[in-house]
Amino acid sequence: MRVKFWGTRGSIATPGQDTVKYGGNTSCVEVSDDQTLVIFDAGTGIRPLGLDLLKRFPDGKRIHGHIFISHFHLDHIQGFPFFVPVYKQGNSFTIYGCEGAGKKLENIFVGQMSPEYFPVTLKEMPAELRFMQLTTRPVEVNGWKIHPTYVNHPGLALGYRLDTGSAKVAYITDNEPFRYLLRQQGNLDPLYDDLDRGQVVLEREDKNLVEFIRGVDILIHDAQYTIDEYKVKLSWGHSFYEFAIEMALQAEVKQLVLFHHDPMRPDRQLDELLAKCKAVVAKRNSKMVVNAAWEGLEIRLADNRK
Ligand SMILES: [Zn+2]
Ligand SMILES: [Zn+2]
Repeated sequence: MRVKFWGTRGSIATPGQDTVKYGGNTSCVEVSDDQTLVIFDAGTGIRPLGLDLLKRFPDGKRIHGHIFISHFHLDHIQGFPFFVPVYKQGNSFTIYGCEGAGKKLENIFVGQMSPEYFPVTLKEMPAELRFMQLTTRPVEVNGWKIHPTYVNHPGLALGYRLDTGSAKVAYITDNEPFRYLLRQQGNLDPLYDDLDRGQVVLEREDKNLVEFIRGVDILIHDAQYTIDEYKVKLSWGHSFYEFAIEMALQAEVKQLVLFHHDPMRPDRQLDELLAKCKAVVAKRNSKMVVNAAWEGLEIRLADNRK
């Protein structure tokens, strides 16, 4: 079983010389083996994934996939109309996600492909498309269990834990610490003191999420900001590096992959931040592996089906 990163960037696709190493495509992660294809989010990274799938399934071999959407901000759905396998009859995809701003899951995709935005409507796509609206009830895909949970992001957003029976991967993108959001709402004071000391304190809801991801082999977590950036972007729905590390350490995950890189973050700066993150983890005497997601990064995990 493999985990492959096709889009690692948050907010907006960011091509250019400064993002060659970590990539400019927005959120898209593939988790697959010979029998099962799971895709987390359909940001612009799903376009190169679609092209790769055509190569892997030559001569009209049918593709059946399961696409789990975290939420419907553009950086998580914008690549879908450019996902070439949906233009081939015989292929089938099930799309999972929560409702969005009171709208049904399917209607969000219909809306994105209405004629003012895109020349092909959803109905005209030749592949068979099914929509399954989720709350927190787990779903099963070819013997793999996918557990959804709500995360802290403007509007509804889901995080997922995929469990193959022998390997576990958590996809928690677009998630903000609860503590500082409460502070902003005036329920706690004084504002920012622990952030100023560089400390990270988890609220009860953060701890619930820690239990949700406990012991996973790979945690893919939002790490859009530095602490200083975060202080002026409270309630934007994203995490800072130290928070992602704290969540991962408390959950005793084996590998943390920093994800949803800020569009203003050049490769050079990401290199520096990753080195700092590794130093923080070493200082805590943890053996946890820390990585920053880059387009093309592929991690293989043992799978008891093989
Ligand atoms: Zn996002
Ligand atoms: Zn978002």
